[in-house]
Amino acid sequence: MAVIFKVRGTRDLLPPETELWNRVEQTARSVFARYNFGEIRTPIFEDTQLFLRGVGEETDIVSKEMYTWEDRARAESERSQSLTLRPENTAGVVRAYIEHKLHESGMLQKLFYIGPQFRRERPQRGRYRQFWQIGAEVLGPAWSSADSPLRDAELLEMLATLLEELGLHGWRLELNSIGSATDRPVYLAALREALAPIKDRLSPDNRRRAETNPLRVLDSKAIEDQDLINTLPKIEDFLDRESSEHFRQVLAALDASGVPYTLNSRLVRGLDYYTRTTFEFTVPDGSGLGTQNALLGGGRYDGLSEILGGPKTTGIGFAIGEDRLILALQAQAERDNVVIERKLDAFIAPMGTAQNAGALALAKELRAAGLSIELGDGVFRLRKSFETADKLAHRMVIVGEDEISSGIFTVKYFAAGEQSKVARAELVNALRSSILSARS
Ligand code: AMP
Repeated sequence: MAVIFKVRGTRDLLPPETELWNRVEQTARSVFARYNFGEIRTPIFEDTQLFLRGVGEETDIVSKEMYTWEDRARAESERSQSLTLRPENTAGVVRAYIEHKLHESGMLQKLFYIGPQFRRERPQRGRYRQFWQIGAEVLGPAWSSADSPLRDAELLEMLATLLEELGLHGWRLELNSIGSATDRPVYLAALREALAPIKDRLSPDNRRRAETNPLRVLDSKAIEDQDLINTLPKIEDFLDRESSEHFRQVLAALDASGVPYTLNSRLVRGLDYYTRTTFEFTVPDGSGLGTQNALLGGGRYDGLSEILGGPKTTGIGFAIGEDRLILALQAQAERDNVVIERKLDAFIAPMGTAQNAGALALAKELRAAGLSIELGDGVFRLRKSFETADKLAHRMVIVGEDEISSGIFTVKYFAAGEQSKVARAELVNALRSSILSARS
């Protein structure tokens, strides 16, 4: 029979790599909890309209990359419905915010999510068709303070803390303000005017964008176009007083809490709904991400709720590409020559099948005390037990007939190359060790 393989652009995540995924997610959950974020889980598929309106029809995501299908009606009385696998989670979160009337409390809503997203992009290192995002949103009516520059700064400071706690070095925060819904048309008009005479000298992709979505020309990475792009007007010269003041206060709060940033007036990001603060955290070339060096991105989206038919709401959020974060952490560990090994506290080796039952009872006792244990089998020869135990665990406990009757066990310590006799009551303490051991 022909073997069936996973679909292009998807990945299987296996142990021990999943250990790192769990560590990243646990660290994120712990940081989010300290900043008073609660978890939200929204469906993986939604009404296609949500993304058409919430992400924008002109974006690459909506125009080219969505997994959309017509969901069949099951009865005469039903109509088929166009559904889409979520390409991002902000639209879903804002839909849920509206649907559950979260604005009515008047309180700031601080929500985080961790889950898969789907985009039909060309797969390459750091770019997949199913990928994971860890994201958070802060939203609410204006009187909840969701529109305050302090929220932008706190969110960015939280991200810096998260990356530090994960031990990632060398990240860079790039920051820009793309102004409010009233600043943007003025800037867009200036941009179109500046693009008109030079459009034909741009690469075909940017020539098209100059017509359909001129803001996107700004964050183009096409090398041949850079000199021309650098001559285009800058959005910072078009911000109204309120947007400039908002941005100034974001920067001042970041300075006060010591979060380093770089201003990048070309950072406009891909989604239509952004307003004011936009940002990206990147890692330098050679950090394991190939050309995909954006680790996470986000920004303020003050009009999104209204676009989705909801009440007037301001908000800001981010999405971390978890796959990329993991790649960067793995590349860093490799560069620093750190091997992160997970070793069990102990391997229990029954000597002969007659000891299997006693060994299971001992394993149960030790596991209940919180130790990580693998159980051998009495059919293994001593040599095989040794080899397996050395691979998996810090120590081996030998369970023979004498040990069961006397309650005194032989424990072998692999790193020290020693062994000793330990009474059953002392075993838990003797076997306790940290699960992660770093070796240089
Ligand atoms: P976006 O939702 O486009 O703002 O992306 C936020 C982050 O998600 C990016 O900075 C990437 O780290 C990650 N990301 C976006 N698209 C993909 C993809 N196809 N594969 C892996 N990560 C992605």
